[in-house]
Amino acid sequence: MLSSFLSPPLPSLLPCPRRRFLSSTTAAAGKIVAIDAAQAFDYESRASSLRDRQSKLKIAIVGFGNFGQFLARTMSSQGHTLLAHSRSDHSSTASSIGVSFFADPHDLCESHPDVVVLATSILSAEPVLRSLPLHRLRRSTLFADVLSVKEFPKNLLLNLLPPDFDIVCTHPMFGPESAKHGWAGLPFVFDKVRVGASDDRIARCQKFLDIFEREGCRMVEMTCAEHDEHAAEIQFLTHTVGRLLAKLDLRSTPINTKGYETLLKLVENTCSDSFDLYNGLFMYNKNSTELLERLDGAFDSLKKELFGQLHDILRKQLFESPRKSPGN
Ligand code: NAP
Repeated sequence: MLSSFLSPPLPSLLPCPRRRFLSSTTAAAGKIVAIDAAQAFDYESRASSLRDRQSKLKIAIVGFGNFGQFLARTMSSQGHTLLAHSRSDHSSTASSIGVSFFADPHDLCESHPDVVVLATSILSAEPVLRSLPLHRLRRSTLFADVLSVKEFPKNLLLNLLPPDFDIVCTHPMFGPESAKHGWAGLPFVFDKVRVGASDDRIARCQKFLDIFEREGCRMVEMTCAEHDEHAAEIQFLTHTVGRLLAKLDLRSTPINTKGYETLLKLVENTCSDSFDLYNGLFMYNKNSTELLERLDGAFDSLKKELFGQLHDILRKQLFESPRKSPGN
C-alpha cells in the first residue's frame, strides 16, 4: 500500500530530512505508515492545486460590452482572474460576474495581466488601442483580439504594439445569442501572429487557446487573410440577409412554416448584435464590398428571370390568343 504512495517520483520531491525518516521507518509501525500516507496525499493535493494555479491566467478584457461580458463569464467560471476596462462604467455587471472593473486604463495595465483581450467594436479598436498606456504593462504581454474581422486588427496590433509583445488574433464565431446553450462544436478561428519562441510564451498562448478548447469549440487555425475571405460569405452575407428581412418587419403568423421560422430566427440573431458590429464587417473586410455587389447582381438576375417569364405569358396572351372578329 505504502509503496504506491512512495512511487518513484515522490521521495525525490520530498525535502531531504523527511526522505531519510521515511526510509528508516517504512514498515516498522502502522501508525507512522498512516501518517506518511496522509502526508503523501497532502503533498499530492498541494501539487495538483499548484498545477491548477499555474494553468490559470490573469486576463484583462478591454471593451466590456455585450461580447466582452459574454467571454468573461466563461473565463471566470474556468477559474481565471478577470479584469476589465471600458469606455462606459460596467462596474456593477463586472462585480456580479467576479470581474474587477478599472475605469482608468493605467490602473488596469499596472495590474500586469498575462493576456489583454481587445473586445471593443471594430470601428473603435484603433483609438482604444492607442489610448492604452502600453508602457505600464509587463514587457512580455500577450495581446489577443476577438474582432469579427481579422486582417485589420492583425495589422493594427503589429503596427502599434511594442515588438516584445506576443499577438494572437482570434475570432470566436458565435455570440451570446447563438451560443446561449454553450460553446461546444462552435468554430473558434485563431492565427498565432507573433509568439516568442521561449517555452513560457508558447505555454501562455496555449493556455489562452485552451479556454476555448475546454469548452468544446472546434479549433480552426488559419491565417487572418483566409478568415476574411470566408467570413465575407459566412458572416457578412448572413447579417445582410437578416438586416434586409428586418426591414420587412416580418411577423409570426398562425401558419408559420419551418422555413419562415428560420427567417424569423435569423432576424432575431443578427439584429441583436449592434449596428456598429455589422458596419465593421462591411468597412473592415475588403471582400464584403464584392459580396454586396454579387448579392445585388443575384437579386437583379432573379427578378429578370421572374419578370421574363411573366412577359412571355403576357405576350402569348396578347398575340397568340384567337382574335375575335369585330362582328362577334
Ligand atoms: P460592438 O458594438 O461591436 O462593441 C461594443 C464594445 O465596443 C463595447 O465594449 C463598447 O464600449 C466599445 N466601444 C464602442 N464604441 C467605442 C468608442 N468610440 N470608444 C471606446 N469604446 C467603444 O458589440 P459587441 O457585440 O460587444 O462586440 C465586441 C467585439 O467582439 C467586436 O469587435 C465584434 O466584432 C466581436 N465579436 C462579437 C461577437 C458577437 O456575437 N457579438 C462575436 C464574435 C466577435 P462601452 O460598452 O464601454 O461603451
